[in-house]
Amino acid sequence: MNSRDLSSGTFPSPIQNFIQGLHDKYARLEDGKVADYIPELSHANPEWFGISVATVDGQIHDVGHSSVPFTIQSISKPLVYGLALESHGLKPVQAKVGVEPSGDAFNSISLDPQTGRPLNPMINAGAIATTSLIPGESAEAREAMLLRRFSEIAGRNLEIDDAVYRSERDTGHRNRAIAHLLRNAGILTDDPEQPLDLYFRQCSIQVTCHDLAVIAATLASGGVNPVTRQRVLAPLTVGRLLSVMTSCGMYDFAGGWIFNVGMPAKSGVSGGIMAVLPGQLGVAVFSPPLDARGNSVRGIRVCTDLSMAFGLHMFNTPRVVIPALRNIRNGGAVRSRRLRTTEQLATLTREGHGIRLYEFGGRLIFASTELAIHAILADLPNATHAIIDLSRVIDVDQASCKLLLELHDQLAARLKRACLAGARQHALLREYVTTRMTEDGWNHLCRYADRDAALEAFEDDLLKLRPNATRITEVPRLEDQELLKGFGAAELQALQEWLRPVEWPAHQVIMASGSASDALYFIVEGEVSVWVGAEGSEVQVGRLGPGMSVGELALTDRAPRSATVRSLTPVRAWALPFDAYDRLSEMGQSGLQIRLLGNLTRVLAVRLRAANAEIRGLS
Ligand code: GLN
Repeated sequence: MNSRDLSSGTFPSPIQNFIQGLHDKYARLEDGKVADYIPELSHANPEWFGISVATVDGQIHDVGHSSVPFTIQSISKPLVYGLALESHGLKPVQAKVGVEPSGDAFNSISLDPQTGRPLNPMINAGAIATTSLIPGESAEAREAMLLRRFSEIAGRNLEIDDAVYRSERDTGHRNRAIAHLLRNAGILTDDPEQPLDLYFRQCSIQVTCHDLAVIAATLASGGVNPVTRQRVLAPLTVGRLLSVMTSCGMYDFAGGWIFNVGMPAKSGVSGGIMAVLPGQLGVAVFSPPLDARGNSVRGIRVCTDLSMAFGLHMFNTPRVVIPALRNIRNGGAVRSRRLRTTEQLATLTREGHGIRLYEFGGRLIFASTELAIHAILADLPNATHAIIDLSRVIDVDQASCKLLLELHDQLAARLKRACLAGARQHALLREYVTTRMTEDGWNHLCRYADRDAALEAFEDDLLKLRPNATRITEVPRLEDQELLKGFGAAELQALQEWLRPVEWPAHQVIMASGSASDALYFIVEGEVSVWVGAEGSEVQVGRLGPGMSVGELALTDRAPRSATVRSLTPVRAWALPFDAYDRLSEMGQSGLQIRLLGNLTRVLAVRLRAANAEIRGLS
């Protein structure tokens, strides 16, 4: 399907086209033989052929028979190994099963001659030992837990194919022999029939090729299902199970596979193969005819071609590290959304450069974070306050968690203040920090809601507005109002005649965007926020408090309100109605008008300059 798909009006993606091409190419390949040692499997149609590719971001491409259900068989083995690890930790699991490739067939009877341990969890012996570690009070409970976890990993409710289960249970003499050997070696400690039965049940879980791609993408993303966005496995577990898939997933073809395809993978006798490119995508192929080693013939071809064509080999690593530090900005040029008085603005322009805003972006991994830290340490002589801004970071890996935390500690020790901003969204970082320094430590690191709040707090610190962590809450004197600076006592007295006291409780609309403009307000006490944009998508553009005014812009042109202003706390203010202001000239007080306009012009000029500087800094 290379042309535009007119029926749906969409264009097929290049990926979709490519896997469709592979499907066309290999559908004609008739090598291999459908497994029949489990009688029920022999009913599979050799023509069934599906390919699915899922990215860690949840884009899924399906071609061919990608929704035909089949039994998962051995592809269950790495997942059950992961569940065993999560239920018991590494040691008890390693006591029962190793991690060495056997180079043998899947049903080989290879136990370590000394310990009796199966070599790895991907051969049947190791898988049966692993299954015996699934916890639960009863056979039903163990099966329920296994199905529930598999369903979470696949992102939909999976079921067991009873016919295949019964068929294997009744004919699985070799596996039964293996289970009894494990019992003999003391690896299984109870009735071997119990774990054996659960093993047959787990192999009979029904999936589709589409499901397998989602499962593979879940592993690729370190344990987060890309469709449900749920974390279903811990990153450490995923790393471990991918390791055994790499060395043992394709049995006696493991070496050739990793050399040619270069992705951890797992195959099953019903014809499925899933392959995982960590950090990027999952691939699944379903085609029942198998080669002599029990791997799907078409599956191997498709994965090999796909890997070659797109360079998906896991050791084909990107050589360019995108620097994680996108920008270093400083408080002399970039400001919080708090509106400041002219003097405060001047102070910040003069002395604010010590406030450093380190803006990170993209994916933080060891190499990109290391580069960033190098640049930050070189910048430290300029800094008094530091904000490590992670709000534009996509994700952080474990290495960068460690590096970031150490960076923060170093900044906190050497500077007046340091904090993280935009970090609360990063679950792995949170987990890392809380296990090392408790919940309180995390809350302290992220004490400001976002980078703007951090910037505002550090500006306040510089302006000494928060000597004891509380800000100045009241400006009772009229002459301390920003717009009334330089007014003489007589002028203030004359003006006072026209002012009217007003009050609002917290969380009230003081003025609504679009409404008529009839007054300006001098704030005496309390805090307000300024919002622009349509209802539902409003953004906060400013916050201000005592000594500042709102509604003053309209004094110049009487245009409707251009923003919505809300009280954050109870607010007290003086209102100057515009009709009162207009009457000043009739009362022979045009001087007052001119003074007020002069101050307004000065305030606006300072704000405009600051805004211009900030815009310049953005480019
Ligand atoms: N249930 C199958 C068996 O134990 C699984 C083998 C496989 O898929 N390779 O024989």
